[in-house]
Amino acid sequence: MTRRSRRAPIRPAALGVRPGTLQAGDTHAAVTPRRGHSTPGTLPLVPRYNGSMDFDGMLNAANRVCVLTGAGVSAESGIPTFRDAQTGFWANFDPTELATPEAFRRNPGRVWAWYAMRRRMAGSVEPNAAHRALAALEPRFERFALVTQNVDSLHSRAGSSNVLEIHGNILRARCASGCVTVHRDDAGPLSGEVFAGDASADESDPDRVAVPRCPQCGDLFRPDVVWFGEMLPARAIERAFEHAAACDLFLLIGTSAEVYPAAGLPEAALESGAKVVEINPKASAFAPRATLSIRQPAAEFLAAYAE
Ligand SMILES: [Zn+2]
Repeated sequence: MTRRSRRAPIRPAALGVRPGTLQAGDTHAAVTPRRGHSTPGTLPLVPRYNGSMDFDGMLNAANRVCVLTGAGVSAESGIPTFRDAQTGFWANFDPTELATPEAFRRNPGRVWAWYAMRRRMAGSVEPNAAHRALAALEPRFERFALVTQNVDSLHSRAGSSNVLEIHGNILRARCASGCVTVHRDDAGPLSGEVFAGDASADESDPDRVAVPRCPQCGDLFRPDVVWFGEMLPARAIERAFEHAAACDLFLLIGTSAEVYPAAGLPEAALESGAKVVEINPKASAFAPRATLSIRQPAAEFLAAYAE
């Protein structure tokens, strides 16, 4: 899962200390108005800037935008993070019993029931203002790529079209042998058959859940997501790095940016000379190097861009 070993070491001198850009030390000031300079006999100046003014300027100056979103954006719609989803019956299980290829082979019904529950959850919430804002911003730019670690389809439901789902999508299932992939919302009989049990998958007796089988080879269908110990989809991650290296503005939203290779995306953008804006209620691992850090929930900060 690490790409860093194949990349040149990050050189501090290359980390975007350029005149005219906000630097790491300014990040707090960027969202907390500075005290204006005052000279005797004059009123203090009105605070010079705030986060949204700087962000507007960066949006207006950008042509090519690349975005990375993570669990924080989904959480603002009410989707629990992976661990927070392990409540009730599921609290008894370690992630390695629910989200690994080995767990699926050992107990496919249990894993299928866990994903059926998560699919129901994803279907019961709505995209929030952050999802809607990113969809509304997309057509404003020459290039706009939205890379997401989220698996809930909320970006697509909000109207984003160029979405790279690097962790897969829980609303899709595929034959474990690779014959066929099906989305829950596909027209046609296969989708109906594969997801027929979602409403009734009994969490109290998941070992008896009937996992659908591939009509071509008879192998089991599995959720089309990246499980622990699995590689990220090569084509999607490759395209994500191409967009990150070619953008002039990178937005890091609702992710702690700690897990590679995704954590390498803002680094690739910064190394190529792009500005990197982080929007996170808590500082991510990338915050010290961000051009601008906005300490606010994304749905709140981006609400103004949602229409
Ligand atoms: Zn098959």
